Amino acid sequence: MTLSTPASTSLAPGRHADDSDAVEPAAADASLGQKLRSWFDTSASSALDDARADRVDWLRAAPFVAMHLACIGVLWVGVSPVALIVATTLYAVRMFALTGFYHRYFSHRTFQTSRTVQFVFALIGASCVQRGPLWWAAHHRNHHRHADTARDVHSPRVHGFVWSHVGWFLTPRNFRTDLSRVPDLAKFPELRILDRFDTLVPVLLALALFGLGELLQHLAPQLGTSGGQMLTWGFFVSTVVLFHATVTINSLAHRFGKRRFETRDDSRNNLWLALITFGEGWHNNHHFFPGSSRQGFRWWEIDLTWYGLRLMSALGLVRGLKPVPAWVLARARR
Ligand SMILES: [Zn+2]
Ligand SMILES: [Zn+2]
Repeated sequence: MTLSTPASTSLAPGRHADDSDAVEPAAADASLGQKLRSWFDTSASSALDDARADRVDWLRAAPFVAMHLACIGVLWVGVSPVALIVATTLYAVRMFALTGFYHRYFSHRTFQTSRTVQFVFALIGASCVQRGPLWWAAHHRNHHRHADTARDVHSPRVHGFVWSHVGWFLTPRNFRTDLSRVPDLAKFPELRILDRFDTLVPVLLALALFGLGELLQHLAPQLGTSGGQMLTWGFFVSTVVLFHATVTINSLAHRFGKRRFETRDDSRNNLWLALITFGEGWHNNHHFFPGSSRQGFRWWEIDLTWYGLRLMSALGLVRGLKPVPAWVLARARR
């Protein structure tokens, strides 16, 4: 998945028969060692074996499954107010990084920022265990281009609810980053490194949380926390909830809600999803006009990410936020 290996010239997600010039030679099964290495270094991915390219690779997916199972640990580690505060704060900060930066900045370029701010939010985004910024943006651009057609790898209309929610990204084909979709991002070596070693940042966050919990247990035992508790709530529970909230936009926001704009896809506007995803639930708005930094088009359409970006703009951290053009509002049904 790096720029330097032949395997990196990856196939477009949801590839069709007419893309046959891009087919790589089928390879023998990757060795176990190679597969395990790909947990940490995505460039270790083997050549694509077409027979298995679109099936869930359970060995590669094991850390994702383990992350869910680890949440059961709350039964043993207990809970404390400080652990809940840390878990909630990490949810909020990371949701903002995903929606404001992975989505509205890296995928859609709806504003500009400095290279430093770009890197800081790429780093926070990488801690969400939703892979690197190039992978995320490449898949998302593909989604907009082919939304709810056979080429949309997470369309609930085409592939069903479960696949659109948790299946599609666990296949060998979709582990890959189609760099041809993100040339504007791939030119930054620091972003390519985050994409290649996409488990590094999450592992460091998990270790830091364990260390924080251990430290608090010794320095402030009255808080009632521990390394295991902080790790379980701050990392596992927070990350799993963050993940499922994010992917509701792929699954539920293409099924449930109102359609203000006549788009070719099934996108919907849904207040509840907008609340948990900080504005992404105004998904029909977004599919009609993805070029705006704002997704709640009316004043009452709560869009926390937009408010956060406005604040960052006032502080001079981002610039050129793109508003919703008048012609877009004029096309609205209500
Ligand atoms: Zn969509
Ligand atoms: Zn989008």
